Amino acid sequence: MWAMVSNTEKAIYVANPAIGSLHNYGVAVDVSLLNEKGEELDMGTPVDYFGELAEPRYEKRFLAEGKLTREQVSHRLLLREVMREAGFQDIATEWWHFQLCGREEAKKKYEILP
Ligand SMILES: [Zn+2]
Repeated sequence: MWAMVSNTEKAIYVANPAIGSLHNYGVAVDVSLLNEKGEELDMGTPVDYFGELAEPRYEKRFLAEGKLTREQVSHRLLLREVMREAGFQDIATEWWHFQLCGREEAKKKYEILP
């Protein structure tokens, strides 16, 4: 996957295997929310959607442009709220990604997993 995107604007969505991602250190998770029936809440894009519509940093703009609904944005805000309360940090580029720490701290504390 890295070979396909490494020289494109999509490279921000894929980890360089030579470096690894925070997932390889076991300090990151990709998650969404389900309702009481076990159905995924509508977040505006699927998990691992490679495009700006998935990026929290642009949510206000996409809401104003009608590309995201208030309900979709409120689902994302709820997910961020519960994950922050659990001690995770969110990132600006993927609504589903949460991590316990940054790369430097992860490198000091944990072994990388292949
Ligand atoms: Zn992730």
